[in-house]
Amino acid sequence: MSTQPLLTLKDISKKFQIKGSKNSIRAVDGVSLSINPGETLGIVGESGSGKSTLGRLALRLIEPTTGEIEFDGKKISALGSTELRHARREMQMIFQDPFASLDPRMNVESIIREPLDIHNIGTKSERSELVRKTITQVGMTEDALTRFPHEFSGGQRQRISIARAIITRPKLIVADEPVSALDASIQSQILNLLLELRRELNLTYVFISHDLSVIEHIADKVAVMYLGKIVEFASVEEIFSNPQHPYTKALISAVPQINPEHRTDRVVLTGDIPSPSSQPSGCHFHPRCPIAQQQCTDVEPVLRNINSVTHQVSCHLATGGDLR
Ligand code: SF4
Repeated sequence: MSTQPLLTLKDISKKFQIKGSKNSIRAVDGVSLSINPGETLGIVGESGSGKSTLGRLALRLIEPTTGEIEFDGKKISALGSTELRHARREMQMIFQDPFASLDPRMNVESIIREPLDIHNIGTKSERSELVRKTITQVGMTEDALTRFPHEFSGGQRQRISIARAIITRPKLIVADEPVSALDASIQSQILNLLLELRRELNLTYVFISHDLSVIEHIADKVAVMYLGKIVEFASVEEIFSNPQHPYTKALISAVPQINPEHRTDRVVLTGDIPSPSSQPSGCHFHPRCPIAQQQCTDVEPVLRNINSVTHQVSCHLATGGDLR
């Protein structure tokens, strides 16, 4: 029996108009993917790859220019504002900077309870009870509820953000760089908390990060993005043991590997990711690709299955074997 995906994006694109110009930039360009219930999809790429925009599009926090979004059998991209508000109860977001995302004038109890108030869930006493239960689920004690965000460390503030995100018992959480601002030791505590909560509450995550070592820790599947497009998509095991796109290989080679089977020679990428407003011809990665050939500057590769239907790559030279 096949599982129905919880979230499906079909050919999603997002253009932003450049201020004072007739030109626009394509931040996300024809992305299609799906996530099954209980899975964690990692989205990885450098700054400017379009991964954060894609996360916001998935929740319709910003409107796609084209394409369709389906969540739990409903076409989210076609919902009116009232229906969308109801659907949002089941789709929450965690942001990178917990200090900026928590209102400094509200105490922790009000911050965590607010989504219940917005969605009119439960009686006053039921809401208070759920807030108390949720603060302990994220590893904090009830005495935190009367305090304010500035009284906590970065890791504790992120725990408060997570409590706020899970209080409506959502099915899907989009986490955008949720541990990037934290020290390494705190990062692993928060990642382990997210893994525990996934198991306990049967959550599905879209986990966005520039850091592949974080993705390796938490994700089941990985989408590698470059200039608004997915350039490789596979299970986390396949991405690390048999990366096919030269960009994925470069990202992996920068990750210190404990597993000797995953160790690769360091590939240093030259130059920065180009601006989405001036995308290179052919393969958008060709100016930085260490193995680019003439056809790469002329013809844009398409995302195609390689080895199996669950491993896709967008590179003319990918064969499924090792190209190095
Ligand atoms: Fe490199 Fe060519 Fe593959 Fe693009 S298509 S990643 S330039 S080898």
